[in-house]
Amino acid sequence: SDHSLQYPRSPADMDWASYYPAYAVNKEIEMTEGESHDHDQQQPAPTPHGPISKQVEIADIGCGYGGLLFALAPKFPETLILGMEIRTAVTEYVQEKVRALRTQHLSTNSYQNASCIRANTMKFLPNFFKKGQLSKIFLCFPDPHFKQRKHKARIVSYTLNSEYAYVLKPGGVVYTITDVEDLHKWMVGHLERHPSFERLNEEEEKSDECVEIMRMETEEGKKVTRNGGNKYVACFRRIEDPPWP
Ligand code: SAM
Repeated sequence: SDHSLQYPRSPADMDWASYYPAYAVNKEIEMTEGESHDHDQQQPAPTPHGPISKQVEIADIGCGYGGLLFALAPKFPETLILGMEIRTAVTEYVQEKVRALRTQHLSTNSYQNASCIRANTMKFLPNFFKKGQLSKIFLCFPDPHFKQRKHKARIVSYTLNSEYAYVLKPGGVVYTITDVEDLHKWMVGHLERHPSFERLNEEEEKSDECVEIMRMETEEGKKVTRNGGNKYVACFRRIEDPPWP
């Protein structure tokens, strides 16, 4: 259950600097409880808190073990990317890996743009992101919830699509991929029906490097490749809202 999950009241209330310390606005570091002022070289640097100088632009929803996150980070070094994952242990694994990669690449500052947060993305997504903040949302191999009565747990629905439309900027893209044909049809159907989205055609899909990264780099994508399964891709562009009458 998500009783222990915490949500910011608004995107401005998020402690973004603790996720992207290299982009912290307040270089003055407040210590959190348990952190020591007289840290030496052995100790990890204390975490800054508060706002950051950029905003997250790419969200990987249900990021799992972060394969996509770690593949995208060096491709989009100027863009902040956030993995969102509901399972505590999996989130911690990704956060640990982010820390390790940052330490390994201190001289180039790589992976400072990638982070992971524990969240139930079916709830309060607009508490994390402002209207029109994101340019890309990835929905990679979401849980299929095969049984009819479980379909309401799928992360594509008319209501959730309205939230994706809210946080995406016009021209932004929702990327979907799955190995379950029925779920693919479900996602395509729901996104096509939504007035804020239009599907990318094959040419557009082919020319978008993120499609290939998403096909090859997520853990589930690799598993499907090993098992020789199909991967169904569909991408949808956020269209401009029509002007008010
Ligand atoms: N995207 C990854 C990949 O392609 O390898 C992981 C796919 S895995 C089948 C689905 C992931 O979504 C799981 O890690 C699961 O914990 C996560 N998940 C399911 N529902 C979620 C929710 N409401 N909010 C955040 N994450 C969720």
